[in-house]
Amino acid sequence: MAQKRDYYEVLGVAKTASEDEIKKAYRQIAIKYHPDRNPGDKQAEEKFKEAAEAYNVLHDPKKRQQYDQFGFAGPMGGGGFDGFGGASMNMDDIFSMFGDIFGGHGFGGFSRRGGRQQHRGSDLRLKVRLTLEEINQGVTKKFKVRKDMTCSHCHGTGAESGSTRETCPTCHGSGVITHTTQSIFGMMQTQGVCPTCQGEGQVIKNKCKQCQGTGVVKGEEVVEINIPAGVAEGMVVNVPGKGNAGQHGGIAGDIQVFIEEEEHSTFVRDGNDLIYNLLLDFPTATLGGEVDIPTIEGKTLKVKIDSGTQPGKTMRLRSKGLPAVQGYGSGRGDLVVNISVYVPKTLSREERKAIEQFKDSDNFKGDRQTKESIFSRFKNYFS
Ligand SMILES: [Zn+2]
Ligand SMILES: [Zn+2]
Repeated sequence: MAQKRDYYEVLGVAKTASEDEIKKAYRQIAIKYHPDRNPGDKQAEEKFKEAAEAYNVLHDPKKRQQYDQFGFAGPMGGGGFDGFGGASMNMDDIFSMFGDIFGGHGFGGFSRRGGRQQHRGSDLRLKVRLTLEEINQGVTKKFKVRKDMTCSHCHGTGAESGSTRETCPTCHGSGVITHTTQSIFGMMQTQGVCPTCQGEGQVIKNKCKQCQGTGVVKGEEVVEINIPAGVAEGMVVNVPGKGNAGQHGGIAGDIQVFIEEEEHSTFVRDGNDLIYNLLLDFPTATLGGEVDIPTIEGKTLKVKIDSGTQPGKTMRLRSKGLPAVQGYGSGRGDLVVNISVYVPKTLSREERKAIEQFKDSDNFKGDRQTKESIFSRFKNYFS
């Protein structure tokens, strides 16, 4: 696949552009490169598609934020995370998007192919709570979703078998009706969606009894969704085409899966790093030794502790954290071990005796340097 151009560059707008500026820029490009104006011009068609894809992302605040943050690798990516559904965006998607920018009905006869408006099904939103273990590995989740499904009786056409669609008698197939009104500026022409066919240009003579002519019925489907490794709370995984079916054979909406993260009993997440709080026993902190550190993989790592290890010390175990979301960053975060030292709360008589023996030893009176730095801090405080 050719190198993709930055979406802001495609639309020729600044990264700080307002929603309105983005809309305007897109409208201009869409009109210039519209296939109806440039028949057979492959280059124009590519430009037209490129702009549509850029607009599709930038006009949606959520998608835009993810694009700003993650670039083309953002988790809004269509299916294979190869961008923002760019690869899967077909002409029907693009034309269905026109309704939104050109006011729901034609724009000088554009917006609609073959005189029919496309009905895109709406998106479905799901939430999923993941453990850090699932986030570490990536996971496939099954959802039972209740949604609009293509009517099997009429295969989405909305017509009873044997019945056909006929050109709408009101608008004669254009889907648009033109009102002519008298105003102080003279005769004005305004366009509106045809009320008889809702802009489809066609009417069904004999409506399907199962779906009352809509082409969709309520149903249930079990959907398997792959959640890639490395996702985080608040991210959205977009699954194109798995949302509500479009009426009258239109394209289906998407499923958007909102990621939530379960708190972990052992680790705290910090970006792709994992933090582990190690409570070291006093003898090991003093004498040195070896400790077992758990990993998110469920294993343990033997880690060497130096003699004289101080509370507050951190150790970084490289690449033992969480993986980066595919396509964004590389490798894994670290496992950060924060060390504190456990001081026993109760002592046996023998232990007390042994500890008391150290009481007068200079070695147990703390580091000279530490005392000095505390002292100088006090001095600064009072001077
Ligand atoms: Zn039907
Ligand atoms: Zn009509």
